[in-house]
Amino acid sequence: KARNPGENEFHQAVKEVLESLGPVLVKYPEFSHHKIIERICEPERQIIFRVPWQDDKGAVHINRGFRVEFNSAIGPYKGGLRFHPSVYLGIIKFLGFEQLFKNALTGMPIGGGKGGSDFDPKGKSDNEIMRFCQSFMTELYRHLGEYTDVPAGDIGVGGRELGFLFGQYKRITNRYESAVLTGKGIGWGGSLVRTEATGYGAVYFVREMLKVRKDSLEGKTCVVSGSGNVAIYTIEKLNQLGAKVVACSDSNGIIVHEKGIDLDLVKKLKEVERRRIADYATYHKDAKYIAGGNIWEVPCQVAMPSATQNEINGKDAKTLVKNGCIAVGEGANMPTTPDGVKVFLDAKIAYGPGKAANAGGVATSALEMQQNASRDSWNFEFTEKKLDEIMTNIHTATYETAEEFGASGNYVIGANITSFIKVANAMVALGLI
Ligand code: NDP
Repeated sequence: KARNPGENEFHQAVKEVLESLGPVLVKYPEFSHHKIIERICEPERQIIFRVPWQDDKGAVHINRGFRVEFNSAIGPYKGGLRFHPSVYLGIIKFLGFEQLFKNALTGMPIGGGKGGSDFDPKGKSDNEIMRFCQSFMTELYRHLGEYTDVPAGDIGVGGRELGFLFGQYKRITNRYESAVLTGKGIGWGGSLVRTEATGYGAVYFVREMLKVRKDSLEGKTCVVSGSGNVAIYTIEKLNQLGAKVVACSDSNGIIVHEKGIDLDLVKKLKEVERRRIADYATYHKDAKYIAGGNIWEVPCQVAMPSATQNEINGKDAKTLVKNGCIAVGEGANMPTTPDGVKVFLDAKIAYGPGKAANAGGVATSALEMQQNASRDSWNFEFTEKKLDEIMTNIHTATYETAEEFGASGNYVIGANITSFIKVANAMVALGLI
């Protein structure tokens, strides 16, 4: 903590991983000899830069840009860009640290990184977004490359932003280097299923956790927080697998619709018209909008946090368990506080931590890189099948590792140990770098 003062989310993410690793260091003493723990907690490189831009009225604004290149032992740095006013170094470092382990779990050759800015895209015009993205990339481009560092989207960065970012990269470098960014549009190097991948993948992970318990998603009542990219495609796949989603949200409030959330309407409001979730209630009189409401108080059997970090605290976790929740699949990164995680683990419900459960997005980004490298594009069905296989494999690997280390059913330990061993072995093999 003294070395990285004030980076609370980063401390939280590191503590959670290190707490799992005791038995690993006993089994593999070479990791201590090579100081893997000390090295893995220190990013290989951190870049912080000024992002000046002008709004539509000509006023000048200055934001701060970040890229934390955490670890490239198993592949080029890979991880999204987040544009949100809460962004500071501690958030980007926590996300980069988690990303490293998540990427290792996918089985794809990708290292860990993360970036973003404290820029707030809300209420900005398309032209303002474009000018910001161009300014951001004018510094970031020199650190990127398909063999070096490959960003993608995250909160506040979707298809529109990635288009502007890729356009500026291409212009500055004079290279159509498709695999330098993922999450691209289908007409210019993107992969089918990438948009859906994180949400779909998280649902597949829950499906697998329930399968172990001889249960399924069929007929389950679900709650999904957020109404962005991950939330929308989580709802879509839950619906396809026969579950019913009764609530979703944004940072202003929650929508409760007992009949089942009307996904076409959410897509229209959020993806097309960029409006607030409150407007949902003006279309459905039987739906209830609660400004500032707590979505975890809505009774459900399956909870899928898909908004942001630390959105479920210990009290929320207790409420969920009390109301009959049997499974939690984290679409968001670190959405549950440590005391909340403890509640889920103590209650022995099926708890899929983000590192494992939301790895489908980055895995499909790696599939996008594969398609770019071979100048090919796969159809939806084929790509989705690959995503399903990857998620099923992650479930199997994390489940079996937990068993091996005497923590049956504990996917936190399973995910942390499986991925740590993979990265640590590569770091040992590559020498002291
Ligand atoms: P989006 O920007 O598309 O959506 C984010 C959603 O979460 C919005 O509904 C937003 O509401 C809500 N939200 C964001 N911040 C807060 C907050 N502080 N409090 C309450 N609600 C909030 O982002 P994504 O769907 O892409 O990302 C959601 C989560 O999933 C993040 O944790 C991200 O790191 C994680 N993730 C995303 C991946 C991807 O492929 N996109 C991959 C793996 C993980 P509002 O509009 O009001 O801000």
